Amino acid sequence: MKRFDCLKLIAAEAKDALVVSSAGATTLEWNALRPSDGNFRVRTLGLCSSIALGMALGLPHRRIVALDGDGSLLMNLCSLPTIARMRPNNLLHVVFDNEVYEASGSKKTATASCTDLFAIARAAGIEKARWANSVEEFAQAVSAALKGEGPYFMGAKITTDRTEVPPYPMDEVENKYRFVRHVEKTENIEIFKSGLPASYA
Ligand SMILES: [Mg+2]
Repeated sequence: MKRFDCLKLIAAEAKDALVVSSAGATTLEWNALRPSDGNFRVRTLGLCSSIALGMALGLPHRRIVALDGDGSLLMNLCSLPTIARMRPNNLLHVVFDNEVYEASGSKKTATASCTDLFAIARAAGIEKARWANSVEEFAQAVSAALKGEGPYFMGAKITTDRTEVPPYPMDEVENKYRFVRHVEKTENIEIFKSGLPASYA
């Protein structure tokens, strides 16, 4: 499977879901398919799943999608038992497993030899965990996960093919502010306090 084909399927179903994506090409491909201020790029390897978990718990009525990679998840496996224990039913955690640390030179990860991320997720306590073994299975699973009660973990073995897309159009700081302003507007809540204290006025 190609990651880009899988991302197209998610984009077709995502609607207003907030999407947290891991460092690397996944984010660029996703943003090319669904450009939105509701996309949040995580530059620190490993934190995608934990940040998505926090969003899912903070906004329990909103669909949250984490677009993770094998290298990233391997660096933060402790997020899986936490997701299992907190049980956010609005979280879909997708892991694109291409068996390499793609963003840093494509050295092999542990999944290239012996590690099964689905088995780890299931053993952590995430009941709705599965591999999607074809694009058709992926489509069916995404559709079900974006309508049903999670948390869902879905692994997809993908090739190392990258799709040529434009670079990400902003840096981390702008991404943070635009994302939070998007959440404030669409949820009608205040996250950033905009008023300066009187001593600064
Ligand atoms: Mg990888």
